[in-house]
Amino acid sequence: MTAHIPSERLYALVLDHETDAAEAAHLSICASCRQQVEELKQLLFDLEIARLSQPTPAAIDRYQAMFNSVQTQPSPLQRFVQQLRARLTWDSRTQPALQGVRNAAAHAYRQLYVATDAEIELMVERMGELRRVEGDLIDIGQDDAPAAALVELLDANGDIVHMVDTDDGLFHLENVAPGTYTIVITRPNGATIEVPALEVA
Ligand SMILES: [Zn+2]
Repeated sequence: MTAHIPSERLYALVLDHETDAAEAAHLSICASCRQQVEELKQLLFDLEIARLSQPTPAAIDRYQAMFNSVQTQPSPLQRFVQQLRARLTWDSRTQPALQGVRNAAAHAYRQLYVATDAEIELMVERMGELRRVEGDLIDIGQDDAPAAALVELLDANGDIVHMVDTDDGLFHLENVAPGTYTIVITRPNGATIEVPALEVA
């Protein structure tokens, strides 16, 4: 068994697109190193979002903290990159009792997404041709910790169409055109939660 690829080489492979035959061979047989490469790529994606966005000063501070953690914690990568994919667990449109309330159902619907350490409640309201998405991010198992986060709405092309900052977990995305989106929620510790394939109908 060859030794795992050291962190600085993982950075070189992903950040500088370097190639090395021996390391490529190791990656082909080592799930652990492949996982680290994937996590590093995800981190780069998040940092790219930070670069392309026009964040508020508070958001910049949070991203700065994220950069600092990248620089001071070289290994293992998963300590500071935690990509959590939230799962849709409840949708008011699928509830028989609520389907009877036609007016209310036509005007707004609610969804609940659950990730490992957080829940995201969403309410999509019809405002003429556009929609308003109201969200509530709730930390699970963290006593009184404010659910601060940067919330980004990405369209199907991965472009950021909305970006808001919350200190208490509550956020509003105004004037959202109907479509399918991804919500990326970045926590102060750099961990992100992704709500994939959010349908705004
Ligand atoms: Zn390895």
